[in-house]
Amino acid sequence: MAGLYIHIPFCTQKCIYCDFMSGTNLSLRQDFIASLISEMDHYLDFFADDPMRTIYFGGGTPSLLSVPELQQIYSAISQRWNISSVEEFTLECNPDDLTEEYLCQLRTIPINRLSIGVQSFCDEELRWLNRRHTASVAFEAVQRAKKAGFANITIDLMFALPVQTINSLNHSIDKALELGVSHISAYSLMFEPDSKITKLMELNRLQPLDEDLAADMFELLSMRLTSAGYEQYEISNYAKPNFHSRHNSGYWHGMRYLGLGPSAHSFDGEKRWSNIAHTIKYNAQFSTLHSNRTLNPRRTLQ
Ligand code: SF4
Repeated sequence: MAGLYIHIPFCTQKCIYCDFMSGTNLSLRQDFIASLISEMDHYLDFFADDPMRTIYFGGGTPSLLSVPELQQIYSAISQRWNISSVEEFTLECNPDDLTEEYLCQLRTIPINRLSIGVQSFCDEELRWLNRRHTASVAFEAVQRAKKAGFANITIDLMFALPVQTINSLNHSIDKALELGVSHISAYSLMFEPDSKITKLMELNRLQPLDEDLAADMFELLSMRLTSAGYEQYEISNYAKPNFHSRHNSGYWHGMRYLGLGPSAHSFDGEKRWSNIAHTIKYNAQFSTLHSNRTLNPRRTLQ
């Protein structure tokens, strides 16, 4: 089994905790897509002996691309590789992008799993995180996605936020259970080196949540989600039966995967490598004009 990961490096604003590679210059979109398609041509043999079983569009915010843009990327994939063995095709989305029209158009692409970045169902926490949606927008987006026919939906929830309480976490869990999604990823807030919260902590402008309280939150999530029929199959991941993430599980089980786009990582079973984490430099490296089969884009990881 092998997987394909596509990194879409755009966001409209930066969440306070985030260290993923993304930028807000959306005018780079078309150059990026052309470069991405050009990069695909360097790896035409990657899935020759090991069929592609999963596709994952992550980011960044893939749902910032229009459906025709996503279609353009999907068509390029299907023209280059055999996708008849693909079992799971995930798109990461921000709740406020999921209008009825967008969801309806998405059904024209064989995406069968949506990963929706909810994070919390409390407005105060969402504001603190600098998310661009409200709790009600997130709740309604998941309802719309279900109504549009997406049966496999995962949402992200965060805990151990300095502004969070056991009561507010219980409220977020209530709303998640009410939605009845098939999968929940529950992440502890992490102080990643390049994130804004780490800088604020270093300036003594915020303190991490008390460790014991953070541990209580983890136990609360685990107890409530497993009681509701979710299996905790990995430290942060809870799934209804048969809804484990195949793509992410593959990373933990040594699956070969090809990562395309700025900052994307790859593993061919022996070597690991990563792309440059800068969209303009990535575009310059892979633009169609500079594309040729002798270019070696790999930067082997130490
Ligand atoms: S958390 Fe997601 S939406 Fe927020 S800045 Fe990072 S990649 Fe963008």
